[in-house]
Amino acid sequence: MSKQILGQATAFQYERDPNAVRFPQNYGKPNFKVIKGAKNGHPTAHTNGLDPVSPWTRRKEKWLTKTANVAWNVFQGINKVLGDGKPFQPAWAPEPLLKSHQKSKPPLGWPRQTDSLCPKCVKEVREGIISGKMNLETMFKHPGEIKATIDKRGNEIWMTKTCPKHGTFDDLMAMDAEFFGVIEKLYPGRDFVNPKNEIRNHGTSTIKYGRGVVLNVDLTNRCNMMCDPCFMDANQVGYVHELAFDEIKEVLDNSLKIKPRRQMSVQFTGGEPTLSPFFLEAVRYAKKIGYFSIQAATNGIRFAQDLGFAKEAYDAGMRIAYLQFDGVTNEANSHRKIGNLFDIKLKAIENLHQAGISVVLVVTLVNTINNDQVGPIVKFAIENSDKVNFIAFQPVSFTGRDEDISDEQRMAWRYTSSHLAHDVKKQLGVTEPLRDWYPLSIISVFANLVDQMKGPDNYWGTMSCSCHPNCGIGTAIMVNKRTKAFKPVSEFINLPQLLQDIQKVTDANRGAILTKAQVGAALLRNYMPEKAPAGLTLKSLMEKFDKQSGGALKAGKGEYGEGAERMKDEWLCLFVGSMWFQDVFNYDFRRTEMCIIPYATQKGEISFCAYNTGVGWRNIVENMYKNASVSEWYKKHGRHEVYATGKAVDLPDFTHTVKLPTFTKAPEAPAGLKTSSGGCASGGCH
Ligand code: SF4
Repeated sequence: MSKQILGQATAFQYERDPNAVRFPQNYGKPNFKVIKGAKNGHPTAHTNGLDPVSPWTRRKEKWLTKTANVAWNVFQGINKVLGDGKPFQPAWAPEPLLKSHQKSKPPLGWPRQTDSLCPKCVKEVREGIISGKMNLETMFKHPGEIKATIDKRGNEIWMTKTCPKHGTFDDLMAMDAEFFGVIEKLYPGRDFVNPKNEIRNHGTSTIKYGRGVVLNVDLTNRCNMMCDPCFMDANQVGYVHELAFDEIKEVLDNSLKIKPRRQMSVQFTGGEPTLSPFFLEAVRYAKKIGYFSIQAATNGIRFAQDLGFAKEAYDAGMRIAYLQFDGVTNEANSHRKIGNLFDIKLKAIENLHQAGISVVLVVTLVNTINNDQVGPIVKFAIENSDKVNFIAFQPVSFTGRDEDISDEQRMAWRYTSSHLAHDVKKQLGVTEPLRDWYPLSIISVFANLVDQMKGPDNYWGTMSCSCHPNCGIGTAIMVNKRTKAFKPVSEFINLPQLLQDIQKVTDANRGAILTKAQVGAALLRNYMPEKAPAGLTLKSLMEKFDKQSGGALKAGKGEYGEGAERMKDEWLCLFVGSMWFQDVFNYDFRRTEMCIIPYATQKGEISFCAYNTGVGWRNIVENMYKNASVSEWYKKHGRHEVYATGKAVDLPDFTHTVKLPTFTKAPEAPAGLKTSSGGCASGGCH
């Protein structure tokens, strides 16, 4: 982040500015009518706070939860006598799925030691290899590696490391040590060790554990925007690196050659992937070889410009748009140098929705620059829960030219997952940092269950997330898409207990019928109907649980439709996630080796953080396989449009049905906003 751009950034104290945006006190309380005997059998209420589900129904639900608890204890009594069931060895996996007590864990807690990098040494190595002074083998000889200590200071957690040549480096890991500890304690353990294979062989940067959740495929490093900075320096490296269609097919085919053969969300990225002439074919091919979740990490311009293109992408197989989204006003997005970028986003969301593609809002968060947008963005997602189903917050990570950032600036802008948990509470007035946030890896508990329910002959392993607890966290908010009633899930579901119960069921492995019965009992006994969001019935909860867990009750046979059809149900379990990508200042090899976001490259599958930061495989791979210099490319292919002068982008029409959040007080653009750091949606904006 070049200093001159950031000169006038105003340092918001982390303690929220009392004048900052606030929401109506009873925000989130439903305001809808009670109509006796409503024909769709779905009562509505009109006074705030009234639950349309009758007290009698709630009482019946409560009895059911008590009965389920009795049934559960009987099951566990039997399981205790019979002991763990036989190992579950699915055809797609290299070995039997690990029982919960067999799962290994990286060192957690503090103080602890880990392997990290010297921010200076690692840059020298990268430049040495790109310039040819060093050979690629250097990457397999622990380049720039130093030990680091993670420890508590006051109520914070810090990483400290010293390089004999370049001195000591300090960085903040959490502004709330207790929060950091709670998240680590909830970590369920690592997935199985990956067998050595030709596409995952990158020295100490090799992904050693697990299946991966998102497979990133960089289609091009060209972009139609010019954010400053951009984590992968799109349009700014002097060369073009763009995959031909055969290369796209090759990296996708390679991803199926290894075990575990796992479902992943294939994410086409860039630069701006829609600039690639092979974008639609790439989506079509990923679908053809069996991936069902295909997404594009996009700035949305192409989709805003052309509803037809959005429909073509849907027909090709695209299901999710990973949409760069920095705030809920044009001001909040103005650092991207497009004057009306928020209006563009609104039209993109409209066209994507009309095409049947669901939207994930991808937000790069920089402390004091745009973290005041956390609440407004969650509110925006709740208001538009028929179109938006996930928020991917990405606390800033200083990569690319940002590795030269000053220590003072880095400390002022450092934003951690713990900051996010506190900001959601402060700005939205709901969720408790120590109760409602979990490591993303709890998803693996449900994935193991679904794998078992689908049986050993299933072709694919279920999408499972087992990343390090310092990498990803999340909270879930149950939202009624019609009434906007909402509540954190862990306010009415005893989640820590449910997780333990599901692990017991999976360890017992008693076959599909008994497993299903136990899962039903587990969900019921941990459900608190008296605390459920207004209007949520047990039936809709069970359906939601089965649908969003990928089949934990119906083994994937639940009929929930495709695209727009799939988004028509009444409730959304809105996932508010955070992936805190690493940088050279807080790099931890224990995290990379469990990475869930591999890039599929011409040099194999490389962890996101090892590719974009760390030893920096991106620069090395791109230089090895670059197509041409930018000028040569323009001569041959012509120049592509780049929107970057603060000018507004014109569209055929700006009409949309997206609901805009209402504030008690219009948000002022924080003085520093115009200078805020850039992120783009390609999954790695930071
Ligand atoms: S991308 Fe980085 S932060 Fe995310 S799981 Fe991988 S190593 Fe962790």
